[in-house]
Amino acid sequence: MNLEKLSDILKNEPKFRYAQINKALWQEYISSWEEASNLPKVLRETLAADCPLEIKAEVFKSSGGLKSLKALITLADGETIETVLIRQKEARNTVCVSSQAGCPLGCAFCATGMNGFSRNLMAEEIVEQVLFWARYLKTEGRGEKIDNLVFMGMGEPFLNYVEFIKAVKFLNNPETFNIGARRLSVSTVGITEGIKRLAGEQLQINLAISLHAAFDNLRQSLIPVAKKYPLHEIFRAVDNYITKTGRRVMFEYLMIKGVNDTDKDALELVKLMKKPLYLVNLIPYNATGKFKSSDRERIDAFKKILEDNGVPATVRLSFGSSIDAACGQLKGKRNK
Ligand code: SAH
Ligand code: SF4
Repeated sequence: MNLEKLSDILKNEPKFRYAQINKALWQEYISSWEEASNLPKVLRETLAADCPLEIKAEVFKSSGGLKSLKALITLADGETIETVLIRQKEARNTVCVSSQAGCPLGCAFCATGMNGFSRNLMAEEIVEQVLFWARYLKTEGRGEKIDNLVFMGMGEPFLNYVEFIKAVKFLNNPETFNIGARRLSVSTVGITEGIKRLAGEQLQINLAISLHAAFDNLRQSLIPVAKKYPLHEIFRAVDNYITKTGRRVMFEYLMIKGVNDTDKDALELVKLMKKPLYLVNLIPYNATGKFKSSDRERIDAFKKILEDNGVPATVRLSFGSSIDAACGQLKGKRNK
């Protein structure tokens, strides 16, 4: 959907039209202008011709794990991006969105990173992914809503900061999507400039840092850009963020078999994480290429070391490996 075009068409309309259209688009999730029956017919026709509402997407369902769905969306220029709907029990829906088409950072364990980078997404292309799932849930007719939204799909949000924050503000705006900021989370590989900017935004959004290693040299071998952002600089930016916002910060730690999952790694992680408002989330690795996930016993043992040493830790549920519901995997397969 072209939002610039939309405000162009509306510029000679009375003010209340904006409110009507905002409600129809972002709260009633109409998928064709015909459904907006309170608009004059001529306006509906102009909108249908110049600002179509269609979102081109293909949906894939998972079999095992949590019942998750993945959509591959084709953008106006033919670029494809993916977005996931994670369905937890008791009708809790989490949407995972992409912030870039591909990712330029090339982390060794990440399918998105392996497949290269095309371009940054515009804010409206980020919003469109959320809109797609809002419409999808509406079509199901069970009254389910989007409960949480995470920026954990393809791409590094802080390398596309301006459009990322524009999308966040749009999603949070009571006149448009109206999703509470506390329901939004962003994950970064540790781009400190982005952490600093977010600290100044006066937003209640949740911040997660993809740590994945407690030693700089191991981290650099997995995440090339870690050479530019050593651990101590990431922690300095995070501590500044915590001082400014008073909010907790989640450290994500992929559990990769034989790579970062030993007792020694856990004990080093304890040293780094012993601070108030730091939390650890252990993520079973979704095997993509050369790496495997640590097994359940190892993950539990690792978690126990953290907890016995006073570091709060949780283990993320698997999102359903049958649809490859992790970073960039589906697109990777289809391109082959
Ligand atoms: N670029 C950002 C956000 C997108 S990746 C970042 O790296 O944080 C979101 C999360 O998915 C990151 O923690 C990333 O490490 C993780 N991830 C990537 N590949 C994965 C895989 N195969 N299995 C499980 N998690 C994966
Ligand atoms: Fe990019 Fe994040 Fe994947 Fe690394 S893990 S390649 S930063 S999307």
